[in-house]
Amino acid sequence: MSRYRSPEPSPEERFRPDDGCPIFSPRLEEHLVAVSRGETPERGTFCGNCYTPIARDTKACPHCNESTSKRRPVDIVPAPIAAALRAQRATEGRWVNGFAYIGVLLAMVLPLAAVLGIPTVKDSLILGTAVYAPLLLVGMRVFPAIFGGYFGDRKGFEKARAKTVAVWEQWVAERDNAG
Ligand SMILES: [Zn+2]
Repeated sequence: MSRYRSPEPSPEERFRPDDGCPIFSPRLEEHLVAVSRGETPERGTFCGNCYTPIARDTKACPHCNESTSKRRPVDIVPAPIAAALRAQRATEGRWVNGFAYIGVLLAMVLPLAAVLGIPTVKDSLILGTAVYAPLLLVGMRVFPAIFGGYFGDRKGFEKARAKTVAVWEQWVAERDNAG
């Protein structure tokens, strides 16, 4: 499956580490993206711990396992959490795009090197084009996907994740001290 995608990562494709921070579940990301597009109302029922959208009769959060009797669900995702997700997606998008451009560059340069490296091909415009064009087409599909969708995605996630985890830890400290 190709992981290459537009600057907005789709939630189900997202790479997720197990670092103790439950932000963000794919469902919460989907919800916040849909809200930002005006496709869904902001209010609903959310896990009181990780803010994953849940059903009203849910007993335990499917994402973080928090029991709804222990921590009451909330009807809106707190603004700092939504802001953290927007920041994370923006950072990831920049890294995915940046790496995809490296892939585009390689896709153009590598076939050129191949054409110039073979004397008989190099000396014939038609032969050179015949070799360059298909290599370019394949490279344009493969390299941006690998660089952007794989390396860019991971690098961007790594860069963005530290901030998200910091927001989360501060949020939890304030939330749990307050009540
Ligand atoms: Zn939860």
